[in-house]
Amino acid sequence: MSKRPNDLSRRRFLEMTAGTAAAFAIAGVLPRRAHAAALPHLTPANPQAKALGFVENTAQVNQAKYPNHKPSQDCGNCTFYQGAAGTPWGPCAIFKGYDVPVRGWCTAHATRK
Ligand code: SF4
Repeated sequence: MSKRPNDLSRRRFLEMTAGTAAAFAIAGVLPRRAHAAALPHLTPANPQAKALGFVENTAQVNQAKYPNHKPSQDCGNCTFYQGAAGTPWGPCAIFKGYDVPVRGWCTAHATRK
């Protein structure tokens, strides 16, 4: 009869430690999974990319077609670029589901402030 409170507190302790261990295990795995989740590279052949004049290198922009383009503009300094500093490719808020090159460009470019 006097075992019951101890059994309950032991069970509660085991439940709490199991939950904490699971949380640490998930937290330890998340950064590695995020790093491994590279997206497919956007290409100029993609219909949305074509519509926005996307090029993989800002030096390839047809200046006659896009006279407002400046050579200093690229994905790396665009407000829509979400890649980590120092990485050659990263996600773009405009082209969801794709990585874009840091030296790329499209007509949606907006200089990050
Ligand atoms: S919106 Fe910006 S980051 Fe995305 S492709 Fe165009 S220039 Fe690059």
